[in-house]
Amino acid sequence: MLLWKAADDTALAAFSRAADAPVPAVTCAIARAFAVELGAADVPIAWATQVHGNAVLDPSRPAAGATIHAGEGDILASCETGFALVVQTADCVPILLAAPGAVSAVHAGWRGTARGAAVTAVRHLAARYGVSPESIRAFLGPAIGPCCYEVGGDVAVNFAGEFVRRGCGGKFLVNLQAANRAQLAAEGVPESSIAAEPRCTRCGGADLASYRRDGARAGRMIALIALRAGE
Ligand SMILES: [Zn+2]
Repeated sequence: MLLWKAADDTALAAFSRAADAPVPAVTCAIARAFAVELGAADVPIAWATQVHGNAVLDPSRPAAGATIHAGEGDILASCETGFALVVQTADCVPILLAAPGAVSAVHAGWRGTARGAAVTAVRHLAARYGVSPESIRAFLGPAIGPCCYEVGGDVAVNFAGEFVRRGCGGKFLVNLQAANRAQLAAEGVPESSIAAEPRCTRCGGADLASYRRDGARAGRMIALIALRAGE
């Protein structure tokens, strides 16, 4: 289930492979199974109903082993240790932010990217938790790539030209991951602190969840971040 993991004294950040999780109850089970695989079976987990916006949720840490619904929103943030924040994706960009003292999980599809969800997350970490953008490490998970993310002009117009190129038949190809990377860098997150999984969810293999490829049958990938105890 594990696709990618980064762990140090400050935080644990990880992305899962695709799993069947199209409905919330299953999502919770998948997130818990992922935590177990990461060696954190009892870590409390918060997830949200994602609505393609830029609202921030700051859930309080529940009891060990609990999985809580934090509400509607696409950005989760916390300064509590041993508390996992998760977002789920299938083509959208999952973004995990780790800094001494706080972490955040962000779900950014084209709407979230156009609304600056990553920008909001960085500013929220600074304003609420006193996190310096220079201290943030960012992890961008697998998302639909510029090879496959074909959109109409109505969507493409929301992005700067450097993230858009012309496709066939009046369509455009958008690079969501690059747009989010640029947002983070513009907010002061060092380029050298931004890591990205480059595989495209649609054409990069069946272990990646893609709504564009599989439609309503698409699974979901879990992105999980937790501040580690002792910080
Ligand atoms: Zn592709």
